[in-house]
Amino acid sequence: MTNPLLAPWTAPFGLPPFADVRPEQFAAALVEAMARHLAEIEAIAAAAAPTFENTIAALDRSGRDLVRIESLFWNLTSSETSPALQEVQRAMVPQLAAHENRVRTDAGLFARIDALHARRDALGLDPEQRRVLERFHLDGVRAGARLAPAAQGRHAEIVRRIAELMTRFGQNLLADESAFKLVLQSDADFAGLPEFVRAAARQAALDRGVADGAVITLSRSLIVPFLTFSERRDLREAAWRAWTSRGEHDGASDNRAVAAEILQLRLEQARLHGFASFADYALSDTMAQRRDAVTALLERVWQPALVRAEEEREALAAIALSRGESATIEPWDWRFYAEKVRRVRFDLDDAEVKPYFSLEAIVAAAFDCAARLFGISFVERRDLVAYHPDVRVYEVRGASGPIGVFLHDNFARPTKRSGAWMSEYRTQSRNDGAPVLPIIVNNNNFAKAAPGEPTLLSFDDARTLFHEFGHGLHGLLSNVRYERLAGTSVLRDFVELPSQLFEHWIDEPEVLKRHARHHRTGEPIPDALIAKLRRARHFNQGYETLRYTASAIVDMAIHARASSEPVDIVEFERAELARIGLPHGVGVNHRLVHFQHLFSGGYAAGYYVYLWAEVLDADGYDAFVEAGDPFDPAVAHRVARFIYSAGNSIEPGAAYRAFRGRDAVAEPMLRERGLLESVATVAT
Ligand SMILES: [Zn+2]
Repeated sequence: MTNPLLAPWTAPFGLPPFADVRPEQFAAALVEAMARHLAEIEAIAAAAAPTFENTIAALDRSGRDLVRIESLFWNLTSSETSPALQEVQRAMVPQLAAHENRVRTDAGLFARIDALHARRDALGLDPEQRRVLERFHLDGVRAGARLAPAAQGRHAEIVRRIAELMTRFGQNLLADESAFKLVLQSDADFAGLPEFVRAAARQAALDRGVADGAVITLSRSLIVPFLTFSERRDLREAAWRAWTSRGEHDGASDNRAVAAEILQLRLEQARLHGFASFADYALSDTMAQRRDAVTALLERVWQPALVRAEEEREALAAIALSRGESATIEPWDWRFYAEKVRRVRFDLDDAEVKPYFSLEAIVAAAFDCAARLFGISFVERRDLVAYHPDVRVYEVRGASGPIGVFLHDNFARPTKRSGAWMSEYRTQSRNDGAPVLPIIVNNNNFAKAAPGEPTLLSFDDARTLFHEFGHGLHGLLSNVRYERLAGTSVLRDFVELPSQLFEHWIDEPEVLKRHARHHRTGEPIPDALIAKLRRARHFNQGYETLRYTASAIVDMAIHARASSEPVDIVEFERAELARIGLPHGVGVNHRLVHFQHLFSGGYAAGYYVYLWAEVLDADGYDAFVEAGDPFDPAVAHRVARFIYSAGNSIEPGAAYRAFRGRDAVAEPMLRERGLLESVATVAT
């Protein structure tokens, strides 16, 4: 009768008791864990005169039961959800948000933190202690600890309600995604699709109980190749419209009013803190600090990308005309004709590339790069079973023993949300006596091959895997004392640095020669194919840059609104895209109605962070280029020490300077996107 969530977790490495957990156990366990946490907070607040140890270090150690149960809960609701779990989610998420807010604003606790903060120069703290004190203090302030009682009450209600709405936003999206399938039946429906797309579509049909058929779902690894290869313009249009209208359907899954209410509440929250807009409030806790710093960066790529995308569009129109088709490029045509141009201009064919990029090979490549850079190894533990048979479990070993556990969950399924992400089951720390080892998971959404067949990735998929693995390393290599500062708990515009930096290694010819081997013959990828991949790197970057930047601009604009009138998000988005002149054929696939980053994730007024971090990663990777070796030991040592293992224990600007010896410059980012030439064109 005991609840396995609340009992000690006795599996190796303290892994959750996956096999014993039932959705109906979560509510009681979370309620009990919140009560235990509050008792700990009361004990801290009631202790003798505040010291760093009895207040800050104790706070950092508190709530461990809640954190482990909550981490399991969040991970399952993302990766392997069910109607029962979704129901618990709807009931518990607002309570969990309210609980966190209550702890952060607890009057007795905050008075102690505030007193320590006021005397921080006189406490004899080391740099990490000082930083964790400042972090906890800021957490309290941002949660409303300094507000007058009425405002504090309203702030708490806003936080609770936003959590509720964000849950609904994500669940609505999953409902729309699970509901959609484009069934392919006649031979004509398959026109243009390479074998790997056909196979993935047949497998998706099996997974969804469609007998003898093939379906295109809204999983990126199906929809993107479908839009790229399908000769059927009508089906491409249908797929595109379904993909970009998720969350915009009348009825139970409609996200329009949900997003509008979130926006209204965020503005009210920002005003309580004395900011004119939510964007200003959110940015005050980032490296960028101010909206104009973000706008300047986005504008720096926008104009040259417009020029580049127009050149690209002309090339697409030319090839369409040569095929006797319409020269008007619609959003569902861009990828299709871009692929044709890619073949003609670069003689590059995705179907020729994929056999060298089996999932198995690319996972091995990621592990090998981590081994060569950081001296760690990944040892599969087939004896350890996670929450789904497809999840692979690895013990991660450093020079002197295990440093953590890595779960790799690579395949799309109807119970998993879309996208790719890293998260944690347990965060690294050394504040408890024995070191706490991290348990990290990477989720991807690759279309699984038929049984017995290898899953083949596109080069973009391989890059995504490396990206998430970079986040994974940020969690696994974390080596700090306080959990609050560990791993990915960094400022938001720093968090994409370790992930995007790691993407550079999959571009390295040496890595490709070693790992990108034909899944049948074992032959390494030919030099000529690597050369083609490299030549084609800048192709279509105008399009990619516009799509991304448009979404970042819309995000910033809607969160910069200072009017508390409810907003029609569809109309706002249309007007903003018209204002900035997004070309018709480009089209955005992160529309506000389904923009999970903003409305069910932590990237509100923060979609810009990928580009911000790209300035850092492009400039940072040049350190390896300058050293003449992608695995240069001295550079690897510095990047490990100041970037991958430092967490938030060092101010991010200072951490970057310690790694690189200077501040980052933007030119390497522009060069990587192939936008430097266009800059020159614009300037003259
Ligand atoms: Zn990322």
